[in-house]
Amino acid sequence: MALTDITERIAAAERDAGRAQGTTELVAVSKKQPDARVEAVLEEGHRTFGENRVQEAAGKWPAFRERFGEVRLHLIGPLQTNKARQAMELFDAIEVLDRPKLARAIARLAQEIGACPDLYVQVNTGEEEQKSGLMPGDTDAFVAECRSLDLPVRGLMCIPPVDEEPALHFSLLGRIAERNGLSGLSMGMSGDFETAIRLGATSVRVGSAIFGARPSET
Ligand SMILES: *Cc1c(COP(=O)(O)O)cnc(C)c1O
Repeated sequence: MALTDITERIAAAERDAGRAQGTTELVAVSKKQPDARVEAVLEEGHRTFGENRVQEAAGKWPAFRERFGEVRLHLIGPLQTNKARQAMELFDAIEVLDRPKLARAIARLAQEIGACPDLYVQVNTGEEEQKSGLMPGDTDAFVAECRSLDLPVRGLMCIPPVDEEPALHFSLLGRIAERNGLSGLSMGMSGDFETAIRLGATSVRVGSAIFGARPSET
């Protein structure tokens, strides 16, 4: 099964990097996948998933949680401020914290709800115009601002440009995390998660290598 193959490759990459086994979290990215494929991975016992849209996740995960018990969900796609409450109630981790307005909204809601998902600050390491995330040069100040709001920032997340060597972006993200005293690094997807693990990823987001190509993208 593809899931077993991926977990074995993660273990091998940890070994090669001289890292302790089990130090990389696998987020199975189930966005746009047919329910039957997601169910198969749940049946295998996997319990950590990633979705990129609040609406889509809200449509399918309550029923899966009902059937399969506790599931950890990560939001890995852009979050509009007006969906922050719904996202905080649905997700265990929000990996796309990328602007002061959203940080302030989450801080306010966390007070009200009395809980807050784990947060990752998204960094636009490639400084791409169309991509969300903080510019590398603005990240330190933003992390400080999040801390002043008492937000539980666990680490940084990046999506490298498709046409560039991902290792350069993973190293950059690692350096920014280190100088900010952050231990979490969400980086690496189907095509490059082993490289990411070599460069310190604590969380990899793998979709198509587990579930197969997303139907709408074939
Ligand atoms: C879709 C997506 C992934 C998974 O991509 P695959 O290439 O299918 O592994 C990872 N991270 C983010 C942010 C995504 O949107």
